Amino acid sequence: MQVLQKQTARPAGQRAQKSGRRATVFRAQAVATDRKPLVTTKSDEIMAEARNLLPGGVNSPVRAFKSVGGNPIVFDRVKGPYCWDVDGNKYVDYIGSWGPAIVGAANDEVNAVLRDQIEKGTSFGAPGPLENVLAKMVIERVPSVEMVRFVSSGTEACLSVLRLMRAYTKREKVIKFVGCYHGHADSFLVKAGSGVATLGLPDSPGVPASTAAATLNATYNDLDSVRELFKANKGQIAGVILEPVVGNSGFIVPTKEFLQGLREICTAEGALLCFDEVMTGFRIAKGCAQEHWGITPDVTTMGKVIGGGLPVGAYGGRREIMEMVAPAGPMYQAGTLSGNPLAMAAGIKTLEILGRPGAYEHLDRITGKLINGIMAAAKENGHAVTGGHISGMFGFFFCEGPVTCYEDVADKADTAKFARFHRAMLEEGVYLAPSQFEAGFTGLQHTDADIEFTIEAARRALKRI
Ligand SMILES: *Cc1c(COP(=O)(O)O)cnc(C)c1O
Repeated sequence: MQVLQKQTARPAGQRAQKSGRRATVFRAQAVATDRKPLVTTKSDEIMAEARNLLPGGVNSPVRAFKSVGGNPIVFDRVKGPYCWDVDGNKYVDYIGSWGPAIVGAANDEVNAVLRDQIEKGTSFGAPGPLENVLAKMVIERVPSVEMVRFVSSGTEACLSVLRLMRAYTKREKVIKFVGCYHGHADSFLVKAGSGVATLGLPDSPGVPASTAAATLNATYNDLDSVRELFKANKGQIAGVILEPVVGNSGFIVPTKEFLQGLREICTAEGALLCFDEVMTGFRIAKGCAQEHWGITPDVTTMGKVIGGGLPVGAYGGRREIMEMVAPAGPMYQAGTLSGNPLAMAAGIKTLEILGRPGAYEHLDRITGKLINGIMAAAKENGHAVTGGHISGMFGFFFCEGPVTCYEDVADKADTAKFARFHRAMLEEGVYLAPSQFEAGFTGLQHTDADIEFTIEAARRALKRI
């Protein structure tokens, strides 16, 4: 504990002492400043070893920094809004494990319930009381959810809900949107945004052509593209799935008319509307993006925040739809670790903290201040930039706006400039998502001082990129 306090006390961005070993030093460009160089010797050594042990040195592709270049930072620990790498460098963290750290990483209250639960066992493979507690919290908060099934990841939630949409409608095709990501199930790896876009892989080998053929791609914010697909596939479309605020092509906001239109088309066509709220759930609002927009889908997938940093996903919807799921109904879906008590405990405490007065107001205020500060700094330095935020989710692109769909980003965004900015921000002690195709996340423990530190860092970084 003493060690932690001592290290927490070091101001953000202050570098650890250089070790005596050969140091790898990154500089964005030759501009003289009095910054200490970013020393990543230990990160580099660990990544060099990892590349022989794990494909690409990582267990999930975006972590490899492919789209921004340079070596990934190897994490030692996280606390609140900060992360520390194995070389001792401290960063203000705007990824938060891709969303779960919304109440602050290694939150003391979450850690306390986890410690208690460990004593009672980490896995039951049998019913436990915490599953009901988290289920009631989700049902109470999320407008579309009357019953819920817990799984262990967002991918699992999405692939299960797809099976459910097909089982319920007795139809096989599904409409998704170019650039939206719904996990790595076969059916969804068609024009699937971030990770895939980052690597420049349009699709994935190993996905059967017949599976890909049942996935139809429309353009985000373009209702006509959806109407055309329904017309060409009359009576065959089980449902429409989308991110109700896109985070996996960078941050892209839908119009309310677009969501309203999807709701009406699905109802008219007898198809189910699914909001994939794995990223937006409990982040955009207490009742997820569907509450923010006032549009209620038929089914919803959740993940990330709902597990408070432990592996949890969930899908839910109207009772008559959810009662299709085994053992209530015939659609099979199961999981050894589903409803895991440790994960339920972390999820319950996280949602409880988010339910306290002022939580979402804080997220919205500091995130607005952050993105407005970054964009103003970009413009001051002559960079074209467009971006925005809703609650604790934000993003920006180096191009003129507006950006309304993945196609706009792919056409316009300056990914090379983003890569230089990303590295420059690491040098300044700020950890941003390592791709122009990803959104950013804040948490309840980001303070005004952290935001101001970050804007100042961005101002310096934007000058030299
Ligand atoms: C992260 C994400 C997923 C996949 O969740 P995993 O837990 O990584 O499997 C699915 N949909 C959306 C919108 C996501 O952001």
